[in-house]
Amino acid sequence: RGVVKIGGAKGNKYDDLIGEMAERLRRGERWVLVHGASSFMEDLSKELNIEPKYVTSPSGFKSRFVSKSDLTLFRAACCLFSVSLVNLFGKFGINAVPLYPPDSISAIATRKDFLRVLEGGKVRLMRGNYSGYITSFVNEEIYSLWEAGAIPILPPLAVADDGEFLNVDGDRMAAAAASSLKADVLVILSNVPGLLKVPNDASTAIRRASLKDMPVLENYALGNMKRKLLAVKEALEGGVGSVIIGDSRQERPLSTALDGKGTVLW
Ligand code: ADP
Repeated sequence: RGVVKIGGAKGNKYDDLIGEMAERLRRGERWVLVHGASSFMEDLSKELNIEPKYVTSPSGFKSRFVSKSDLTLFRAACCLFSVSLVNLFGKFGINAVPLYPPDSISAIATRKDFLRVLEGGKVRLMRGNYSGYITSFVNEEIYSLWEAGAIPILPPLAVADDGEFLNVDGDRMAAAAASSLKADVLVILSNVPGLLKVPNDASTAIRRASLKDMPVLENYALGNMKRKLLAVKEALEGGVGSVIIGDSRQERPLSTALDGKGTVLW
């Protein structure tokens, strides 16, 4: 069994991926598809004239501040993406079921109400944020869907102990799912050929690395790749067999990644 994570970024295409996943599911393989929602969120924000607020944490992680209304928009963005994936799977004769809180609960998270934000060299606290970090993962529904021959789709949404919905990072959501399911593999597909030593230079892609190489790898990662490496670490420490950062723009991106193209981490 395995988990595939796809980003919401532009330049990604999914028909090919869903087609090959459908073939694999028909052969009896068990997969979960986790997705981000970034480009859907950007498009919705633009259409509604909402200015996104990006913040940088003191440790250098960039993220979007999620107000209550941003969260509503985010949930809508997730739905749009999930539905398009359900439709694509449907075209290939596969039943896909998105798991959304509160009806289906998978990730449970703790809210980061206060965000520590670096602004003009100073750290300040911003209140009213609706994102969090995952503390546990409930996988029963995933198993039932597999039994029923369906593929579960997971948006990056969690619930807090008080029932509040929270935005969580998609890569870390995928890591939590993969760990909880003791997956053989977590495949993170993105619009890059893997982890690159030099950004934008495909020839510098790292082929293979292990958990103990992580401190070195972290030096190569900028921006969003930092968070992906955090997810890689969480998955490997959580007992996932291997994690592959693969290129979503390839033909048959899943098989290509499973053939070892991309960055394979174990
Ligand atoms: P997705 O939306 O597919 O999850 P992200 O935008 O979150 O993708 O993360 C992938 C991005 O990380 C790449 O498009 C690239 O710009 C950036 N990145 C930063 N450092 C690296 C690196 N060392 N190797 C590859 N990509 C990197």
